[in-house]
Amino acid sequence: MNYLLLAGLIVALLALGWVAWRYLRLHRRLDAYAVTIRRAAEGTDLPADVPGLEEFSNAVNGLSAAFNTQLSSVEAERAKLASVLEQMTDGVLIADADGQVTFMNPAAGRIFGAQAGRRVAEVLRQYQLVEAWQRCCETGEAQSETVELPARRQFLQLFALPDRQTGGSLLLVQDLTRVRRLETVRRDFISNISHELRTPLASLKALTETLRDGALDDPQAAPRFLGRIEIEVDALTQMAQELLELTRIESGQVPLELAAVDPARLLHSAAERMRMQAERAGLELTVEAAAGLSTVRGDTARLEQVLVNLIHNAVKFTGPGGAVILSAENDGEFVRFAVKDTGAGIPEDDLERVFERFYKSDRARSGGGTGLGLSIARHIVEAHGGKIWVESVEGRGSAFFFTIPLF
Ligand code: ADP
Repeated sequence: MNYLLLAGLIVALLALGWVAWRYLRLHRRLDAYAVTIRRAAEGTDLPADVPGLEEFSNAVNGLSAAFNTQLSSVEAERAKLASVLEQMTDGVLIADADGQVTFMNPAAGRIFGAQAGRRVAEVLRQYQLVEAWQRCCETGEAQSETVELPARRQFLQLFALPDRQTGGSLLLVQDLTRVRRLETVRRDFISNISHELRTPLASLKALTETLRDGALDDPQAAPRFLGRIEIEVDALTQMAQELLELTRIESGQVPLELAAVDPARLLHSAAERMRMQAERAGLELTVEAAAGLSTVRGDTARLEQVLVNLIHNAVKFTGPGGAVILSAENDGEFVRFAVKDTGAGIPEDDLERVFERFYKSDRARSGGGTGLGLSIARHIVEAHGGKIWVESVEGRGSAFFFTIPLF
């Protein structure tokens, strides 16, 4: 009986020892799993495999794999978003509930010349913009505001959107300066063109009325009036042609056929085209091409057009007995062309503006011309990668220069 009891006791002790040993092993493994899961929660890199109890290990490994996949897809999304914000031309700012800017993309930094970490009012500066943001915070409604900053010649539009979860706000800023400038140019263009059309059309109307009211039957007056009608119609035709030309050049519809161009030959060819006109105006037209001129990369027909436009003006604004001199010389990476005259010159105040579309000085207003010739010349020169400018003293003559890159 005692033996039986002893044997039972030994078996029980062994069983207890075995259970205790299993328990301790399990405990150690559970500790290892706990560490692994904690690391997963902290987002640190997970081990590819957790050894141990097969089912539990599989489950944890599955969790770990799923977690890793999600982590990398979240990371990919975050990188995508960051690159969109980085590349955006619109400014994006995030402000917290205390009015502190916690994020600014590079465009916002450029627009406001500031960095995150400052207060919204310090970044936006303009009171209209700050008020729009404050309205957004107070009402919890989206607000927008447009302001012009004359000092920086900038035009900005702000959208302030509330973030109801955090109590902060999201600010979007668009720089509309370019769009506005284009609108102004277009408006000026339309107003200029209507103005330019009105004068010849009014003359045509007056001339036809005079003819109808009796001048038609006057054998001496009739041809004179018809001649004036023809001049007005020619001027309108020229304007239509030049406008079309300018629009085509501006919209890039006239591709340049670039080739090696000999500057001296270009000068002579333009001079020959204009020689008759110059002689008829009693002017001496000469070409002075420096020796050893480099060839330039250009479109011969277009460059000749620039020279013809400049010579045409020189002839128009120089009285009989005067001179028009064409020249070219090497200038670093460019060849510099010049068309000089001994004519009326250009008032200092007009010098900046002569290349604008439709610009004509007061003196030129009474005569012919559309005010488009120099605009066309400037576009052609700039399309070649060169520059055009003028130097002039009123009453002493003008000198127009332009550069064209070497071949
Ligand atoms: P336009 O058809 O009137 O000549 P342009 O664009 O060629 O138009 O010239 C614009 C204005 O610049 C002219 O109206 C004139 O006032 C001035 N200008 C251009 N070239 C000369 C020049 N060589 N001498 C004096 N004024 C000039």
